[in-house]
Amino acid sequence: MSNELILVKYAPEIFLKGQNRGKFEKKLRDNIKKKLEGLNYEFITDQGRYFIKAENIKEATERVRKVFGVAEVWIVTEVERDLTAIKEECLKRIKEANPKTFKIETNRANKKFALNSIETSRDVGGYILHHFEGDLDVDVKNPECLVKVEIREKAYICTSNDKIKGVRGLPYGMNGSTMLMLSGGIDSPVAGYLMARRGVELNCVYYHSHPYTSERAKDKVKELAKILAKYTERVNLYIVPFTEIQLDIMEKCRPDELTILMRRFMMRCACALAEKYGVQSISSGESIGQVASQTMEGLIVSTDCADRPVFRPLIIMDKEEIMDIAKEIGTFETSILPYEDCCTIFVPKHPKTKPQLEAMRKAESVLDIDAMVEKAINDTELVVY
Ligand code: ATP
Ligand code: MG
Repeated sequence: MSNELILVKYAPEIFLKGQNRGKFEKKLRDNIKKKLEGLNYEFITDQGRYFIKAENIKEATERVRKVFGVAEVWIVTEVERDLTAIKEECLKRIKEANPKTFKIETNRANKKFALNSIETSRDVGGYILHHFEGDLDVDVKNPECLVKVEIREKAYICTSNDKIKGVRGLPYGMNGSTMLMLSGGIDSPVAGYLMARRGVELNCVYYHSHPYTSERAKDKVKELAKILAKYTERVNLYIVPFTEIQLDIMEKCRPDELTILMRRFMMRCACALAEKYGVQSISSGESIGQVASQTMEGLIVSTDCADRPVFRPLIIMDKEEIMDIAKEIGTFETSILPYEDCCTIFVPKHPKTKPQLEAMRKAESVLDIDAMVEKAINDTELVVY
């Protein structure tokens, strides 16, 4: 292995966890290790800092950066705890970055080192100015290149140019669980990502309307679950056959009520699955006012069927903001593949935009609700990623 390492900085939020901080840190370490499985690596904990040595540092960096709770990843070079070695490495790094201005910042965690932090910075800075060929000045306020020197058992050197952004958030699995209603659209994968980023364990449910929606629509949802699983640990995707429910509603209820009644059934099925598999809450990709069924009244009428909290992390976001996140997390390209979802096939010409709760309860009273839900849940297929 080379003398390059990954230095992991975790989200400042984790520092604020008081007595629980240890639990969050442990979970984060465990999650990082799980993500690195299959790579040849060594995990080193040194006074609250996490270092990773890896044979394939590029791949390891890319994986670690995506672990929730990781704020930044720095590529650092390890050298002996020796002033000459430190000076040479700093000079090498500065030459690579070739800035107009720089600053050395030292943190001496190991007091066995003879010089203190300020003395070290000054000494190393002087050496660089003397040996660098070309224009170079010290700028302590706003340097183009910040060189960090950490002195521990060994010395670690990195520059601001080697900083890679992490996804932040809280360690996955620290904040309960949710059943995400995952369609093939742009919104719901983003909603799932945002929940998972707060440490909430993800399970997904997809309502499939065979033969009105194709296998390719289902594959698209599977692919989205797989992308989400890159950020989480494992994702259970429950595929619920939904056609019978839809046809039943179509046959026995008014066309303008179809969408909202269907959404009530989606909520019921999600809750039934959550109950069956011990999942605490429901999440969806709805955003207030985005489409006819996402009016305040629409949301109230669908929430009415839930027996546990329903989270809608996109509720106040506009489409542009949601699309930006989808692009960043890598779900966008899959989401825009042109395969129909069940909602577009069974969309009435004039859906109700302001459904009244009592009227909807009455409208569906002609249906054998419990039996419909039970059958759908019994026929549900599970795919694990
Ligand atoms: P998305 O982009 O997530 O598909 P959307 O803007 O198309 O959302 P709707 O079709 O009204 O909006 O769906 C609202 C939410 O209901 C979705 O974000 C998703 O959480 C859930 N949902 C819709 N269709 C399905 C489905 N076939 N399977 C699972 N969940 C669904
Ligand atoms: Mg949709």
